[in-house]
Amino acid sequence: MPATELFRDIANQTGETEFYTPVPSGYQPGRTKYVIVFGTVMSGLGKGIFASSLAKLLQDQGLRVAPIKLEGYLNIDSGTLNPYRHGEVFVLDDGMETDMDLGTYERMLDQDLTRDNFVTNGQIFWAVLERERRGEYLGRDVQILPHVTGEVKRKLRDLAVKTAADVVFVEIGGTVGDFENACYIEAMRELAYEDGPENVCFVALTFILEPSILGEQKSKAAQLGIKRLLEMGIQPHIIACRAANPVTDKIREKLSIYTSVPMSRVISMHDESSIYLLPTRLQRDQVDRQVVHILNLNDRVDPRAEQKGTRTWEGFCRRIRQPKHEVTIAVTGKYTAVRDSYASLLKAVEHAGAGLETHCNVRWVDTTDLTEDGAAIALEGADGVIVPGGFGVRGAEGKIACVRYARENIVPYLGLCFGFQMAIVEFARNVCGLQGADSTEIAASTPHPVIDLLPEQYEVEGLGGTMRLGGSDVEVAPGTLASKMFGGAETVRLRFRHRYEVNPEYIDRLTGAGLVFSGKAPGQPIMQILELPDHPYFVATQSHPEFTSRPLRPSPFYTGLVAAALGRNAVGPVDANPSRR
Ligand code: GLN
Repeated sequence: MPATELFRDIANQTGETEFYTPVPSGYQPGRTKYVIVFGTVMSGLGKGIFASSLAKLLQDQGLRVAPIKLEGYLNIDSGTLNPYRHGEVFVLDDGMETDMDLGTYERMLDQDLTRDNFVTNGQIFWAVLERERRGEYLGRDVQILPHVTGEVKRKLRDLAVKTAADVVFVEIGGTVGDFENACYIEAMRELAYEDGPENVCFVALTFILEPSILGEQKSKAAQLGIKRLLEMGIQPHIIACRAANPVTDKIREKLSIYTSVPMSRVISMHDESSIYLLPTRLQRDQVDRQVVHILNLNDRVDPRAEQKGTRTWEGFCRRIRQPKHEVTIAVTGKYTAVRDSYASLLKAVEHAGAGLETHCNVRWVDTTDLTEDGAAIALEGADGVIVPGGFGVRGAEGKIACVRYARENIVPYLGLCFGFQMAIVEFARNVCGLQGADSTEIAASTPHPVIDLLPEQYEVEGLGGTMRLGGSDVEVAPGTLASKMFGGAETVRLRFRHRYEVNPEYIDRLTGAGLVFSGKAPGQPIMQILELPDHPYFVATQSHPEFTSRPLRPSPFYTGLVAAALGRNAVGPVDANPSRR
């Protein structure tokens, strides 16, 4: 696709021009195409799930895809966001703390992302202000339009150049009409104008109401939402309708005539039992083909690659839809009211379950006021227990009670980050006899600080506090269960997000009483995986293996738990699909 005349004007600009739009060197309009997904009516509809499913289908056709999420808030990253309000904080390998949607993209695409894939308004404004201070705007008044929108386009085009993607999938956070994302939407309109037709495909994700008092679907809210997008100069190419039930033709027709989008591109995206069933549905509705057509990508797709990808994925979906076994996994947590707070954990359980043709029911256990007797009642009949990551004192004693129950009653146990720390505290108190042992995060004046900040962390703490974040290699001790679970690998890469860790002064006391540290930081006394050899599956890790679990490559920690919950040897299939992309 040749560059538009406008684009040439922009690229050749010298001196004063109203066409302020930064274009990174090497950028060729038309080389990378864009699919841009907006939400209307309300947020939380699954823009990320839709965008990642579609991206997966194009990836399966041999196209190189790169997702990017544009967040409306001013925080520089998601690190300080309360999962109760905003869903879980997802951590990338490079240490960036992001919105949970990045997890959806990593899982669906089986691709590690970086900070380039995550943008907030805070980052955009920060960059603009830094440029202003450096005098980069040539004496101009710095304006939302064109400078802020220019910065947004720069992020997208930088990603296009860096990744050499065929298609960049852009997800605009929030809903159309929010003040917060107005700059983004304007920037997307400009991008489409500058890069020219056939290079940008706009998708409006909307919601079809079905009020129980009426018993039928209503399209008005969807119409008004899309109207808002049209008012902002964006004509969608595709409308995806979220709904509880399949969207009727009547509704699709109404939307089609109202928005000038052909019926074949107004698609029903009704509820499924698993998000992983969505790619197949989109494929059936030929949404991927529509996008290839709209973006004129026919010459770049590889039909043979598609067949292989489709077959593998269908096998995975079959194992989700028709499981042969069922187990109940109890998950303790403070944020049990909001499932999004544990999005990656739930997915990791699902991946492991699918690998073993097992449906995993999750039983939530609120540990806020949980006593030891209460833990016994709450965990009665559970086939496995997970104590996940967490912060602060609330519910900590209840979690320790759950760990004790699992250890003493031989119930498979998986501890994740905080759940690893609580397993240490429980073992120190009840096996090593260290009365009052605790984490200094919970009891600063404990006589036995078995979990503590390392000296180096104390220093950092004084400077405003920070955590150990991102991917790190973990050394696995040979001959341990962990080593078997990882197929004998000497090091494995895991992701971290924590401030406290096992106090090295207590390592000998703990191991002397039978605890085995099967993973540690290379060259440092930092303990990262533990196990109890006389228990069928009592494993915990300082890391968050849920962040690296993928549909076709479940985390061995989770596979081990589900296998043990099924009463099997914990060493299940390590890698359901070794052919990595
Ligand atoms: N609060 C603990 C720490 O900071 C555990 C963190 C977590 O579970 N992510 O070390």
